[in-house]
Amino acid sequence: MDEVSGWADRAMKRMADESLLPNPHNFAIWYGYYSGEVPDLIRAIDLDIAASKPFTPARMEELYGKFFSFDREQKAVLQAGMRIQDALGQLLELLRSSGAGTDRYGKALQQFGDRLELPGLEQLRSLVDAIASETKLVAQQNQRLQDQLHLSGAQMEELKRNLDSVRQEAITDSLTGLFNRRKFDDSLQDAAMRSVQTGSPLCLLMTDIDHFKKFNDNYGHTIGDHVLALVARTVKECIRSSDTAVRYGGEEFAVLLPGVRISDAVRVAEQIRTAVASKRVVNRSKNITLGTITLSVGVARYVPGEPVGELIRRADAGLYAAKRTGRNRVVAEDSGGSST
Ligand code: GH3
Ligand code: MG
Ligand code: MG
Repeated sequence: MDEVSGWADRAMKRMADESLLPNPHNFAIWYGYYSGEVPDLIRAIDLDIAASKPFTPARMEELYGKFFSFDREQKAVLQAGMRIQDALGQLLELLRSSGAGTDRYGKALQQFGDRLELPGLEQLRSLVDAIASETKLVAQQNQRLQDQLHLSGAQMEELKRNLDSVRQEAITDSLTGLFNRRKFDDSLQDAAMRSVQTGSPLCLLMTDIDHFKKFNDNYGHTIGDHVLALVARTVKECIRSSDTAVRYGGEEFAVLLPGVRISDAVRVAEQIRTAVASKRVVNRSKNITLGTITLSVGVARYVPGEPVGELIRRADAGLYAAKRTGRNRVVAEDSGGSST
């Protein structure tokens, strides 16, 4: 709680320092910056600071639009929706004028059109998928329409690629390439639901780099950023494709391990911890070794049916216990013990 009001205080003070109105958008931006909840925002602001760019009201609105509203995504969905509507209209016209006996296809297109009202990104993607495969099917069946349909099919494919990249961007942390917090929240809900339905275990690792502030102070933010990417790569190397690694906050990473028992989750955590500790951080341009990085890890297992916040809370408690008892260690709930 103290931490939260500390971030709020700093946000208020920063708005005053920058002569910005204390409105909700400006507050959200500075609160997000100090709390570390939105790493890409921190990066953007730090770049502005490094370039001595002023935080004008216009710049603040730009930051807000980029990091706090899903405008970009909504715009992409809206534009794709309009283009699909156009394409559907052309296809229907084509079918009518060619008098082709493709009743089923015509009906399918009509239905797609009905479903286009206010779709979300996910629905739109599956819709485009469905149209593309229907179109392909008819194109194969009907020689006369083949060329024109091929063209429409290609347009749909392009639309699909556009939507896919917007979607990917919306769930990725740009510095590390890991998933972001937004994706984590979704994945955690899904994994918890599956655990309840199937009875299979689910574990969560919460990791935090040790003394990272000092590392930044010693070597600078840019090298710090490289280290974050290095740690992210190392984490990925230690997990399977069914696991989900995310950048949870500034220098915190979370790993979801579905189908994994806590004893195995502890093993994975140990692997990550030792793999990171064994890397040498090297400044290639100056050819000097900067030392090593360590991290602390908390491990918890999901109790089927509990709110997912409880799982996060227990993993966090493990993490803080690891910090308290000396860092560079893994602490799991239930085990009562720790290891270095
Ligand atoms: P502890 O062992 O207790 O975790 O100490 P710490 O210094 O790591 O923890 P603290 O929370 O005090 O500081 C976290 C630091 O992480 C502060 C901030 O400079 C750094 N950090 C957060 N996000 C980024 C980032 O995107 N890039 C860089 N270079 N540093 C970041
Ligand atoms: Mg931290
Ligand atoms: Mg830390």
